[in-house]
Amino acid sequence: MSNLAGRLLRIRVGVAAALLALAAVAPAASAYNQLIPPGGFNAIDECEGTTASPCIRWAKTASNLSINVDVYLHSSLTSQEVNLKTIALDSMGKYNAIAARNPHLQQTTSTSNEEIYVSAVSFGNPRGYGSTEFSFGAVNRIVYANIKMNTQIEWNTSYDYPCRAIPVAPHEICQADAHKVMSHEFGHAEGLAHEALSVTAIMVQGEPASEYHAVKTDDKNGIIHIYGAYP
Ligand SMILES: [Zn+2]
Repeated sequence: MSNLAGRLLRIRVGVAAALLALAAVAPAASAYNQLIPPGGFNAIDECEGTTASPCIRWAKTASNLSINVDVYLHSSLTSQEVNLKTIALDSMGKYNAIAARNPHLQQTTSTSNEEIYVSAVSFGNPRGYGSTEFSFGAVNRIVYANIKMNTQIEWNTSYDYPCRAIPVAPHEICQADAHKVMSHEFGHAEGLAHEALSVTAIMVQGEPASEYHAVKTDDKNGIIHIYGAYP
């Protein structure tokens, strides 16, 4: 199950959408999280080692700039045991707490100025958890991100990922930890790719152990590498 979430991640460049199938690659540990390289999602280490890298990132860098996040999730989702809207806002807070110049994520209820859109839709795949798509205004510079949570998942907050067979289509129902998947997808939206299983980080794909369910130092270092630390 290690690559289930990542398998659904798609990167859209302009109008040309590319579905990037991700392998469960376990690269060597790095000093900071993997960053999304140009033209591919999981090309390990391609972006590391330079702050002038061409890696995918928001064009905004100044500390006072904000990204408007439209959390299109109902405050009480009757179809799910957890409140995905609350969890989305919690995840935004975790990234805003990183002492870096990454753009501040702030909630908007206006569709006219949204820059990140968070919604829950059916993936048509009972084992897809979350996905993040991008639109770019310039080469590798994000202007819009679309985070989707799969309504076919029974979301929990207990680090459990069981699947059970059912006799009707889609013949399977799976559970997943909503904090893990939501924070993982926001990590992608900020410009982080997947981290190796050998590193404890939110950006490790689908790892069920509880220590992988928070935004960790490795994730924070990735953000700081992209956007720079506060002086
Ligand atoms: Zn992922």
